[in-house]
Amino acid sequence: MARNHYDDAQVATLERAITYASEVHAGQVRKSGEPYITHPLHVTASLIEWGMDIDTILAGILHDTVEDTSATLEHIEHLFGHDVAFLVDGVTKVSKARAGMRDLGSYLPGTKDNLTKLLIAVGQDVRVIIIKLADRLHNMQTLQYKSAEKQKKIARETIEVFAPLADRLNMGRVRVQLEELSFRYLMPAEFEHTKQLMDSRLKQSERKLRSVKREVDAHLSDEHIPHQIDGRVKSIYSLYKKMKRVPNIDDIYDLMALRIIVDDVATCYLVLGELQSLYTPMFERIKDYIANPKPNGYQSLHTTVITKSGQPVEFQIRTHEMHDYAERGLAASFHYNEQKLSDAYKKGTIGELPADLHWIRDLQNAAALVNEGRDFDESSLRVDLFGDRIFVYSPKGDIYDLPQGAYPLDYAYRVHSDLAARASGFKVNGKMVPFSQQLSHGDVVEILTSRSARPKPDWTQYVMTTHAKLKLRAQLRRGGFLGQITNAAAIIQRKARERITKKHSRR
Ligand code: MN
Repeated sequence: MARNHYDDAQVATLERAITYASEVHAGQVRKSGEPYITHPLHVTASLIEWGMDIDTILAGILHDTVEDTSATLEHIEHLFGHDVAFLVDGVTKVSKARAGMRDLGSYLPGTKDNLTKLLIAVGQDVRVIIIKLADRLHNMQTLQYKSAEKQKKIARETIEVFAPLADRLNMGRVRVQLEELSFRYLMPAEFEHTKQLMDSRLKQSERKLRSVKREVDAHLSDEHIPHQIDGRVKSIYSLYKKMKRVPNIDDIYDLMALRIIVDDVATCYLVLGELQSLYTPMFERIKDYIANPKPNGYQSLHTTVITKSGQPVEFQIRTHEMHDYAERGLAASFHYNEQKLSDAYKKGTIGELPADLHWIRDLQNAAALVNEGRDFDESSLRVDLFGDRIFVYSPKGDIYDLPQGAYPLDYAYRVHSDLAARASGFKVNGKMVPFSQQLSHGDVVEILTSRSARPKPDWTQYVMTTHAKLKLRAQLRRGGFLGQITNAAAIIQRKARERITKKHSRR
């Protein structure tokens, strides 16, 4: 497994670190009775699964050595280098500061906020937080060996602090794992009840869903659309939360969903159109998280349709990248940007990070405030942390920041909506580009205008910012076009029209 991501020299270093950790932890046992080394080994296995860089992997193996054994930070730096020692130090500081919080009695009231701030403060390097998430995951997986009182306390902290942190990093898979484990310990009766409810429903719907899956699979293959299709079951905890709002399980449509993974964004919308033509769509249940990603960066199209047997089925449509990011979140970026990232850290030039990781700077700013003992507004962090931005330039050199994936029209509406309304074309870096071309970091964008140009309804496909959408919609309404057409709905309507014409021409 380790060999997939890491070269031979790195694997050799990993083996050296395992030997070293085994030696210094020798004789120590976990509450389970197992040798202590099993814990860092499990933590490291998670970090490898998440595709973390080699320094994080090494720090995972060594994460408890400085606190619990005779090992020193200096020795670790000597053996494994500065970056690994820096990460181990971060993890150790979290543990020590938490012990301090407990001693001061400040552990109970406000523990949630304090712990969150603490993690952010030491997490100037966010990899420290990721190691803590892997650490917490294994501790939750072995929680049965702790006293009942400790189980509840640790589970509460996990669901209040660690699961939301994982969510903020868009690490969906570990968030769900942490929530399920915590829920089981915190509310065992509710967990069992919800689980039984889920199991009985799944038995009923599983066969029907399998036939829907086959049908869609065959249809997409007929249309020559390369795809993967899989079922996903809602987690027990998220079902429990949802049933507080929607008490009747029959009204919950996404108990089971089918997930379709395709190669690119255009195909996502194409598949959406195919589903709407195959089944009866519930238009009010289309959610376009591709044009409007969730604050943590999550992207997908969600849609619910009624199948021929009258069963509502939710579909989630996304690209491979979106899927990877939804499951592994931030850890996915580390894998892709490993080299750039560690270089930036070494040089201390965090400003040179790729634009999609700019939130690390926000995290650092927040950390600086916390370290100075000043307050910061956590809600701002929550929203802005993942606002993936790119910077583009006007021909005169003015800088505009836009969300990643923005189109030339988004830029135009940002500059001036009257100017955008007269747009007849765009030049990016001196070359003509179509309205559909998404902008990249550093692009120079020139707006070409003509007196006769007017906003067109199909422009709604080529804007993604809320600002541009609102302005365009207002202009279209004024121009006599009916507004309120969302990106997804427009495409479906066009698709539906095509089908009608096809049917007619066949006769
Ligand atoms: Mn640990």
